[in-house]
Amino acid sequence: MAVWEPIDTIAAKVQSGELKAVDLVEKSLGLIAGNESFKAIVATTADRARERAKAIDAKIAAGENAGRLAGVPFIAKDNFLVFGADTTAASNILKGFAAPYQSTVIEKLEAEDAICVAKANLDAFAHGSSTENSDFFTTKNPHDETRVPGGSSGGSAASVALNLAPFALGSDTGGSIRLPASFTGTVGYKPTYGLVSRSGVVAMGSSLDSIGPLASSVEDAALIVDVTAGKDELDSTTIDQDDQGYVVSASSLAGKKIGVIKEYMGDGMQPGVRGCVEAAIEQIKQAGAEVQELSLPSLPLALAVYYIICPAEVSSNLSRYDGQRYGFSYADAKNLDESYTKTREIGFGKEAKRRIMMGTYVLSSGYYDAYYKKAQTVRTKIINDFAKAFESVDFLVGPTAPMTAFKIGENANDPLQMYLTDIMTVAVNMAGVPAISIPCGTAEGLPVGLQLIAPQRADRELLSVARAAEELLT
Ligand code: GLN
Repeated sequence: MAVWEPIDTIAAKVQSGELKAVDLVEKSLGLIAGNESFKAIVATTADRARERAKAIDAKIAAGENAGRLAGVPFIAKDNFLVFGADTTAASNILKGFAAPYQSTVIEKLEAEDAICVAKANLDAFAHGSSTENSDFFTTKNPHDETRVPGGSSGGSAASVALNLAPFALGSDTGGSIRLPASFTGTVGYKPTYGLVSRSGVVAMGSSLDSIGPLASSVEDAALIVDVTAGKDELDSTTIDQDDQGYVVSASSLAGKKIGVIKEYMGDGMQPGVRGCVEAAIEQIKQAGAEVQELSLPSLPLALAVYYIICPAEVSSNLSRYDGQRYGFSYADAKNLDESYTKTREIGFGKEAKRRIMMGTYVLSSGYYDAYYKKAQTVRTKIINDFAKAFESVDFLVGPTAPMTAFKIGENANDPLQMYLTDIMTVAVNMAGVPAISIPCGTAEGLPVGLQLIAPQRADRELLSVARAAEELLT
C-alpha cells in the first residue's frame, strides 16, 4: 500500500474519526527522522504541528466540521514564512530569523486544517538548480544518493519522493518547482503568475516568482492549487480563482490540440530523455490528441534574458538584508556602514553575491539600455510567441529539462553549466503562463519529466489534461 493515500481520502478519514491528525503528524515526523541521511529537511515544526493536530482532533471529537485538508501533514520550502521554526531561505544571512507572520499560502492551508511539519532545504534564496547552493548542506536525490534532487525546491521534491508527507510547497522563478519534480519523479505545478499569493514568501524575482505544490499525483497537486489560489490583498499582483476551481477529473485527450515545442526537441537533449519524451508524446497522440510541431522562435534567447532580468530583480530584493532588520547581523561593526557591508559580506553566499553583482551591473546607468532594457524587449517577444502559439494549439509540450539528475559536484563549480539546466523552464516564468512537470518514465533508472504548458489562466484546463496524460503514462 502507498505510504500516503490521496490527500482528499486522508482528510475524509480524519473527519470521520478513522484516522487521527496526531497520528498522521507522528507518522510524518517519524519518516523525517528515519530519512535524515537525504538531508531534505532544514528544521521541523514538530511542537506546533503536534499542538495543531491535537486541536484538530479535539474539534472533530466535539462534532465540529474540520477543513478540506483535515490533519494532512505537509512540508514547506524554507523560503515560506511559517511559525514554529526559523525562516532561513537556506541562507546564513537569515539564520535565526523567526517569521512575524505567516505566508498567505500557509494561512490558507491552515484554514483548511492542513499541518506544516517541517521546512525543506533549497538553494539559498532559491538561486540554483541542485540545492548545492544551500548555505547549509546539499540534499540527495532519493533515486540515487550520489545525485542532486534538482533545485531550487530540491528539499521539497526529495521530501515528496521519500513520502515524508503527502505534499510539499515550492517556489518557481525559473523552474524551481518543475526541475526538481522532473529529477525526482514527482509532480510539480507552477501556476499562472499571480494565481497564488507571493505574500510571505522570501522574494527572488518578483515579476517571475510563482508558488505551487509538489505532490505524488496531479490530483493531489490540483487540490492544493484549489485551496491556495485566488486574490490576496497582501499581493497586488494576484488574480481571481477560476469560478469552477481546480479540482478536476481527467479530460479526454481526443481532439485536444497539442504543440510540440520545436526549440526544446533539438540537440543537447540526453538520448534517454529524448526517448521518454518522444514516447510520451506518441502515447498522447495515440489517445486522440492532434499533435503538431510548433516553433517559438524567441525561445533560444530565453535563458540569456532570464539571467539578466532575474538577477536585476534579485539585486533589488536582496538589498533589504543589511543586518538591521532580519536574521544575522555582524556584531563588531564600528559604525552603520560597516554593519551593512560586513553583514552582507559574511552572510551572503557566493551565488547570491554573483547575482547581486550581475543585477547591479545590468541596472547601472551605463549598461541599462544595453542589457536590462534589451532583455525586457526580448521578454515581450517571448510573451508574444506564447500568445501566438496558443492561437493554434490548446497546450504545449516538451521535456522539463534536457537531462536527468546530475551528480553532486558535477556542475557545482561552473555557474554557466548550472544555468543551462534551466533552458526549458525559464521562458514559462517570463511569459507568466502555467506549466506542470509530470513523470514520463526513466532513463538509466533516473526519472524524466514531461512539461505541459497552457495559456495564462488556463490552469484548470492544464490540470485536467495533465491528469489524463498522467493516467496514460503511469
Ligand atoms: N535555477 C533557476 C535559477 O537559479 C531558477 C530558480 C528558481 O526558480 N527559483 O535562477
